[in-house]
Amino acid sequence: MITNHSSVIELNRNALANNFKFIKNLIGEKVTLSSVIKGNAYGHGIQQMVPELQYLGVNHFSVFSSFEAKIAHESLTQAATIMVMGDIAEEDISWVVENKIQFFIYNISGLQTLLREAKKQTKKIHVHIELETGMNRHGFEQNQLLELVEIIEENKNLIEVEGICTHFAGAESSANFKRIQEQQQSFLKGIEFLKIKGIEAKKLHTSCSAGIIAYPQFNLDMVRIGIIQYGLWPSKESQLTYNVKHEYETQLESVLSWRSSIIDIKNVKAGDFVGYGTSFLAETNMKIASVPVGYGYGFSRSLSNTGRVLVNGKRLSVIGTVNMNMFLIDVTNIEVKIGDTVTIIGQDGEQSINVSYFGNLSEQLNYELLTRLDKSIPRVVV
Ligand SMILES: *Cc1c(COP(=O)(O)O)cnc(C)c1O
Repeated sequence: MITNHSSVIELNRNALANNFKFIKNLIGEKVTLSSVIKGNAYGHGIQQMVPELQYLGVNHFSVFSSFEAKIAHESLTQAATIMVMGDIAEEDISWVVENKIQFFIYNISGLQTLLREAKKQTKKIHVHIELETGMNRHGFEQNQLLELVEIIEENKNLIEVEGICTHFAGAESSANFKRIQEQQQSFLKGIEFLKIKGIEAKKLHTSCSAGIIAYPQFNLDMVRIGIIQYGLWPSKESQLTYNVKHEYETQLESVLSWRSSIIDIKNVKAGDFVGYGTSFLAETNMKIASVPVGYGYGFSRSLSNTGRVLVNGKRLSVIGTVNMNMFLIDVTNIEVKIGDTVTIIGQDGEQSINVSYFGNLSEQLNYELLTRLDKSIPRVVV
C-alpha cells in the first residue's frame, strides 16, 4: 500500500484495553460484543484494529459492506464471525457465501439473490433478519414477515437464522426517547410473531454504543459497539447519562492521535497577508510555520483561521486558509525548528486536543471527522 508520510495516526493499545474494560463492566459477561469496524474502523484502520481487538478477546465484527468484510477477513488472526450490516456487492456474493460471512437481510429480493448463490454452492447462508421498527431506513415491515417466513420455511436447509435485529433512530439523545420506546415495542412484537411462526434466532440484537448507556435493558443477546470502543462518546448527552448513572467511574480514553511535523518556518512583516487571498493579515511582525496536512487528509477547511494544534507543549493557532495539503500556524512566540512534532489530535505535554474539541471547531460529529481521515495516512500501534 502506498502511504502518505506527511503525518501519522497513532493507535494507543492501552487506551483500547481500558475502553474494553469499560464496555465489559457495562454489559457484563453474558452479552456478546460485536465490534463495529465500518468506515475503516472509524478511521482507525481495519487492518490495524482487527488484530488488536482480537487480542482483547473480540470474536465478532460488524462491517457495513462486503468490501470491508474482505479487509476484516484478511486481517483476522484467529477465527471470528464477520457480519455485514449493509451492502453486499454483486461481485462479492459468492465470496460471502463461501466464507460464511453473516449478513443483515432487509428485503425479499436481497434474500433471494443470496439464496440463489447458496443453492449453487449447496452451502447455508447465515442471516440476521432486520426488522423495520420505526427508523424507516431499511428492514422488514410487519406485513412482509409472512412472506419472509414462507421463504425461510421452504429453504430450511439453506438458511441459518443467526439473528433478529433492529437499529434505534438516535439513542444518543433523550429527545428521541418516545420514538425509541415505540421501536422497542415494535421489535418485541416482531420477534413474537416470528417465534409463533417457528423462527427463533440465536441472537437478538438492537443496541449501539448509546443504546447500552441509555437502554441497558435492551442489550439482549448481543450489542453492536462502535464509537465507545475507540474511546469517544456518541454524544455529550450520552456521556452525562453515563456519569449520572455511574457516578464518574471509569472514563473512556481516546485511542487515536494524529501527528505531523513542521516542514518550513518563515518570518512575515506586519501588514502582509498570509496564505491564499486576504483571510489573514499579519498585524505585527510574525513567525509562521507550515504543516504538510490539509483538507485532502481530513483536516477540514472550516478550521481556517480557527483551528488549534500543539507544538512543544504549546497550543498554537492555525492562520489563513487550510489548503489541500498544507496549513500554516503562528509560532511567533515559541522556540521551534523544522522537524518539530505537530499534534493535531492527541496529547503533547500538559496540553491535549481531543477528537470532540477538534470536531466542535470544525462542526463535525466525532463519527464524521474520524471517517474522513485519509486512508493513506499510516496507522501505527503504540
Ligand atoms: C454504526 C452502527 C452501530 C454502531 O454505532 P455506534 O454508535 O458507533 O456504537 C450499530 N449498529 C448499526 C446498524 C450501525 O450502523
